Amino acid sequence: MSALAPRADFPLLAADPRLVYLDSAATAQKPRAVLDAIAAFYAHDYANPHRGAYALSARATAVYRAARERVARFLGAADADTLLFTRGCTESLNLVAGTWGRANVAAGDRIVVTAAEHHGNFVPWQQLALERGAEFRIAPLAADGTVDRVHLASLLGPRTKVVAFTHVSNVLGAINPVEEIVALVRAAAPQAITVCDGAQAAPHLPVSVDALGVDFYGAGGHKMLGPMGVGVLVGRRALLEAMPPWLTGGDMIEFVHDERSTWNVIPHKFEAGTPNVEGAVGLAAACDYLDALGMARVHEHGRRLATLAIEGMLRLPGARTHGPPAGAERAGVVSFTLGEVHPHDLSSILDAKGVCIRAGHHCAQPLMRRLGAGATARASFSVYNDERDVEALLAGMRAALDLFAHA
Ligand code: PLP
Repeated sequence: MSALAPRADFPLLAADPRLVYLDSAATAQKPRAVLDAIAAFYAHDYANPHRGAYALSARATAVYRAARERVARFLGAADADTLLFTRGCTESLNLVAGTWGRANVAAGDRIVVTAAEHHGNFVPWQQLALERGAEFRIAPLAADGTVDRVHLASLLGPRTKVVAFTHVSNVLGAINPVEEIVALVRAAAPQAITVCDGAQAAPHLPVSVDALGVDFYGAGGHKMLGPMGVGVLVGRRALLEAMPPWLTGGDMIEFVHDERSTWNVIPHKFEAGTPNVEGAVGLAAACDYLDALGMARVHEHGRRLATLAIEGMLRLPGARTHGPPAGAERAGVVSFTLGEVHPHDLSSILDAKGVCIRAGHHCAQPLMRRLGAGATARASFSVYNDERDVEALLAGMRAALDLFAHA
């Protein structure tokens, strides 16, 4: 099984043929096309957009607009004005909690999250609940790592204001049935907003935010082969127009009177200050790159590598994986433990062999408590990985077992 994308497309990987990069769920390596697009912006179109009355600034404005339209198309959002650029998925989710949440959640209301949430889609809601005196409930997971829909339904009622859930778990790789969850919420708590964390879905699955039907969808550029420091929030137009701004200052205003101010139209209302045009341009180039590969193939590639890894791991004594079993529908993220070998030791042993994996709580401590694990090791795959990378991981795990057997 070869890689989906040539390793030569990724300068960092091409420069070190020994490197086995299996931490794409933390951040993905960048294709040259993304680096080139950023360089071209600085070389040919660089100015502050929206501000100057001169041709170069108009060009920078057009480049920024085109990037917004490209990323919106990638995510299946027909109305590009409903796509806001942020600093990352964490900021996107905080934006919803800090604006819609502060304006709409009151004492006695209920906020529901799931046990699989990354801290980025857990802590903002927990803090909002504490600030407002709202009830904070955590829906448990079913055996396959998706949210337990029966339990979730039991948490929905007339005071439920927010249901926040991940599309794909960054620990388990399990894929939540977003449309089914949205339908449950619409039926039992029509006043509630649905907030979906797409940080691990947007890089790996075909995503159409409009078809999913969620009210808000967040994602981060750096996991999508795009640059760090840029993310997106797609929101329902009526909600974005009604909710208060996030940061205030330049670009996001309509009029500033001495005593009060009025706000620009969306998306500008939520993008105060000089925007991250380089980030948007790089992310748009990453969307081009992923679409050329085909997101259905990207998904299948990640699933097959994950399956290969799980099958190999389960042949090792003491190995245990978390999340959907081998062959099941999932994203290319596998969390595991290896007998008595601590995940941090395993990660160091693998690092010595040029294999990069993640070890720890993966910014999902509530989930780790429920798994009964303080830490796990995690391997995550992207388009540049192939079965030799999986074999290098398994060989490193065998070496770790040998080392500990003789320790
Ligand atoms: N949500 C999930 C599921 C994630 O895996 C991550 C990053 O690891 C985040 C949110 C945070 O994303 P960002 O780094 O873009 O803020």
